[in-house]
Amino acid sequence: MTAKLSLRGVRKRFGEVEVCKGIDLDVDEGEMVCLIGASGSGKSTLLRCMNLLEPVDDGVILLDGQDISEPGLDPQPVRQKIGIVFQSYNLFPHMSAAENVMLAPRRVYGQSREELRPKLAEMFGRFGLGDRMDHYPDQLSGGQQQRVAIIRALAMAPQIMLFDEITSALDPELVGEVLDVLRDLRGQGMTMVLATHEMGFARELADKVCFLDAGRILEQGPPDALFNAPREDRTKAFLARVL
Ligand code: ADP
Ligand code: MG
Repeated sequence: MTAKLSLRGVRKRFGEVEVCKGIDLDVDEGEMVCLIGASGSGKSTLLRCMNLLEPVDDGVILLDGQDISEPGLDPQPVRQKIGIVFQSYNLFPHMSAAENVMLAPRRVYGQSREELRPKLAEMFGRFGLGDRMDHYPDQLSGGQQQRVAIIRALAMAPQIMLFDEITSALDPELVGEVLDVLRDLRGQGMTMVLATHEMGFARELADKVCFLDAGRILEQGPPDALFNAPREDRTKAFLARVL
């Protein structure tokens, strides 16, 4: 079976510093893969390479077996298929939640507000925001804004979703409601890659956990194996710090 997304020997450098040092990773359709590792280990850069926000210096990225990382290819169609959500939700403050969400599908797919509204109402409802569509970002909590940012990415009907520490900026009591959205998406069969510090969540829901250390995947496996029986000393040391 071809993986949904495959990375082979992916390298990325910023100036003199190599930040991804030959990453091999397979993400199967419907899988949730969690990237864990210390700050600076390369999690964000790897996610940004996956949807071509950063060009890779070497190696290939395959989506359904097709090389998407070739220099010179238009990244736009790939970014529509691979959505990304960041720690900072970056909603436009002068637009309502619904307008924020409709912006890209209106521009890119030429969909009308009338066409989009029922589909979005369903998503807002599902994520506990049924009565918040016409609120402005400053009328929403951080957890609500982050859920709107997730709906905004989903509105493009992506095949894969990337999440970069999307709960890290939230007050602790708001983390759960955002993780619930991920749990729901996983239940729907969305293919997902998350950089996360939520070890309990990764342990509960990930199909595969990858421990990144200085730009390499030092160890990867099912959460049970990785959390309960890590093989590498550096993985053990990291887990001892965060668990
Ligand atoms: P993580 O998400 O695991 O904290 P990052 O991917 O953000 O790791 O960063 C990995 C390394 O790459 C860090 O040393 C960081 O300073 C460096 N880095 C990330 N983005 C850039 C950039 N745009 N320019 C230069 N260095 C960068
Ligand atoms: Mg990061």
